[in-house]
Amino acid sequence: MHLDPFELHRPSSLEEALRLATAHAGGFDYLAGGTDLLPNYKMHLNLRPHLIALDAVAELRGRGLERLGAMERLADLERDTELARAYPGFADALAEVATPLVRASGTLGGNLLVETRCFFFNQSHFWRESLGYCLKAEGDRCHVVPQKERCYATFSGDLAPVLMALDAEAELAGPGGRRRVPLGAIYDAAGDGIRRHRLGPGEIVVAVHLPAAARARASAYLKLRVRPSFDFPELGAAAAAELDGGRVRSLAVAVGGLETYPRRFDELTAPLVGEHLSDDRLRAFSEAVMRAVRPVHNTFLAPDYRRKMTRVYVRRAVEKVRERSGAAA
Ligand SMILES: Cc1cc2nc3c(=O)[nH]c(=O)nc-3n(C[C@H](O)[C@H](O)[C@H](O)COP(=O)(O)OP(=O)(O)OC[C@H]3O[C@@H](n4cnc5c(N)ncnc54)[C@H](O)[C@@H]3O)c2cc1C
Ligand code: SF4
Repeated sequence: MHLDPFELHRPSSLEEALRLATAHAGGFDYLAGGTDLLPNYKMHLNLRPHLIALDAVAELRGRGLERLGAMERLADLERDTELARAYPGFADALAEVATPLVRASGTLGGNLLVETRCFFFNQSHFWRESLGYCLKAEGDRCHVVPQKERCYATFSGDLAPVLMALDAEAELAGPGGRRRVPLGAIYDAAGDGIRRHRLGPGEIVVAVHLPAAARARASAYLKLRVRPSFDFPELGAAAAAELDGGRVRSLAVAVGGLETYPRRFDELTAPLVGEHLSDDRLRAFSEAVMRAVRPVHNTFLAPDYRRKMTRVYVRRAVEKVRERSGAAA
């Protein structure tokens, strides 16, 4: 594996980064920590001739309980004890991303926009060539669900589900201006693994904002992976709740690692608001989440197993939240 040549740009302001994005429209990628992008480039996956590095853009830095800059390194977020106290589920997820070495370079923004994965895609050029490539890079068919229209590559970031459960918002800046949207709105819920996000051309994730209400919630994140020291999620389950003596004031549950986008289940949590979070209700809720998800066979573990474990991991994540709230079953 080798890295083909590209031109590296290193803007020192957001405005300069956006000017470069307009000048190289369609022919560039933003570069944060590079821990996802550069290995993909080494495998010749969707190369671009220009990389716009974001590390010198001061506006993308800074962290506090209300705002997390997109270029904050995962290791720095993980070491922040104030953040861990306020958002224990976020701390759970940070500790589970990749390895300490990857977290030393990887950033929050890069994690939210990590490339979707599939065992027919994350392979060397020679391997993919021998199969005739696939829709997501250089080919015209999908080996997972054979048809021509859609890619089922899996969203495999660990941080999005828990931040979505905490009602985080993404602050975005693009050539057309700035906007702030619920974090879940940056993902393609229509479910295409190629498009993978709904950012406009050249748009940059500037920061993630957490509302005051998030600090009143207990939260938790549980991850299923093959090698606990290293692997991407086969399933990630996040829960955040405010409980009043066991009665639900608010509850949000989101999962990742199962479909092309991280997914929150407001239609299933809404009926629980005002109710006592009993074991029976929790079991029924976890079953309903299991029935709603549709993993496909493009990661190590079989989709049926991942679905069944969704029920278990969602239940355990909510139980952990209940425990952290000091509420009884
Ligand atoms: C061995 C290994 C194991 C891994 N395991 C996990 C894992 O368990 N869980 C997990 O979540 N990830 C995992 N990763 C993936 C990756 O390392 C992390 O997700 C990391 O947080 C990515 O951040 P980065 O800054 O390195 O992103 P980069 O690689 O620099 O960028 C990733 C993508 O995001 C875009 N991008 C980055 N920042 C911005 C921004 N601010 N605005 C707009 N676009 C942006 C880039 O253009 C690129 O498309 C693993 C990687 C490796 C190599
Ligand atoms: S799901 Fe299909 S199109 Fe998408 S990466 Fe895998 S094989 Fe390629």
